[in-house]
Amino acid sequence: MIWDDAVSWVTLASLLQFTAFVYIEDFLYYQIHKVFHVNKTLFSFVHGLHHSIKRPVALAGHYMSASEFFMIGGTVVITPFLIGAVTTMFGYPVHYFVLFIWIVFRNWEAAEEHAGFEAPFLIAKYFIPGYDGPSFHYFHHLKVIGNYGAVTAVHDRIGNTVSRGYDEHLQRMSTSK
Ligand SMILES: [Zn+2]
Ligand SMILES: [Zn+2]
Repeated sequence: MIWDDAVSWVTLASLLQFTAFVYIEDFLYYQIHKVFHVNKTLFSFVHGLHHSIKRPVALAGHYMSASEFFMIGGTVVITPFLIGAVTTMFGYPVHYFVLFIWIVFRNWEAAEEHAGFEAPFLIAKYFIPGYDGPSFHYFHHLKVIGNYGAVTAVHDRIGNTVSRGYDEHLQRMSTSK
């Protein structure tokens, strides 16, 4: 049963790595994204192009300036390296498959959060605590202030940067179900 134990430890490590990817990348994205909005020069020259879309559609997730792409894309790529550097010290390097799932998930999520509607079946809602669905980032485009997180609202809640009216919107959504 040594083989089985090894497999289950690798599976557990992979799940923990993926979870760490989500929240660490969310944190890095939140910080960079907030700076884009606070600094007017960065907003004009780097992030403004993305916000030229007021009512996003799925493809808008990748509509951005080249400089923003390298910075935002950088957080998606750097995060597995950071986490991998730590977990490798404990004998669990990041497996290619975990990296592949992460890149697919992050691209899918970018499209989903810009889709502009709440699809009846949002996979991420079931396994990522703090993920509210597309309305979170839709509010960011609508208000331009607040809701800076990449995937979840966790860091906006900690940093008190949730967009005005967003919680009321969530309330309405839950009562209308
Ligand atoms: Zn923005
Ligand atoms: Zn956006």
